Amino acid sequence: MGTINGLDGEMAAFDGQFYQVKGDGSVHIIPDSMKTPYATVHFFEPDQTIRLTTAFQSYADFQNHLDQYLPSRNRPYAFKITGTFDDLKTRSVHKQKQPDPSLVEVIAHQSVFEFKNITGIAVGYWFPDYMEKLTVPGYHLHFVSEDKQHGGHVLNCRFSKATVAIDFINSIKLVIPQDATFHRADFSSYNRAEIEVVKKGTSKTTTIVSLDTADSE
Ligand SMILES: [Zn+2]
Repeated sequence: MGTINGLDGEMAAFDGQFYQVKGDGSVHIIPDSMKTPYATVHFFEPDQTIRLTTAFQSYADFQNHLDQYLPSRNRPYAFKITGTFDDLKTRSVHKQKQPDPSLVEVIAHQSVFEFKNITGIAVGYWFPDYMEKLTVPGYHLHFVSEDKQHGGHVLNCRFSKATVAIDFINSIKLVIPQDATFHRADFSSYNRAEIEVVKKGTSKTTTIVSLDTADSE
């Protein structure tokens, strides 16, 4: 998972395919020519697969439940979650113009999508707190629907049945961008509150699109 150059939406990759969920909510297959300024990817080899039949009322509920399957808080985990969500709320962002605004400014203009009865795959990671300057600590999932029409960064969900595959990660390789913008960037003013905004979004100035996928067929 990650993003695309110019912060042109949310990226999700699984089953050998890379998807771009644009700010208007549309999903596109990412061509080999497209570049990313930030992505976390790996070859998924699940160590554990869980079939959940518990009803979860929220993403927070689901996260609390998932916690018990993580044997240590000091190593990363990758997830592939397949299921039908009674309610799913995702977001994406529109392509940014130069000069690059801060992530928080971008998120302030995010698009939020609300789906009902939507089937698909959510992929992502859980990272430990000590990695917070490199990535988003905690859970972070990106979703793409089974019909490859909808998706985005998961903000909330409600469901009662899903299959969760977990890959326990042992090592990480960090590839550092080699371009002038990155070399000049100032990372000294790190702000944890900003990371929370990136994860959870903000309630102001968002576009909300509601879709009941069961009715649209
Ligand atoms: Zn995201």
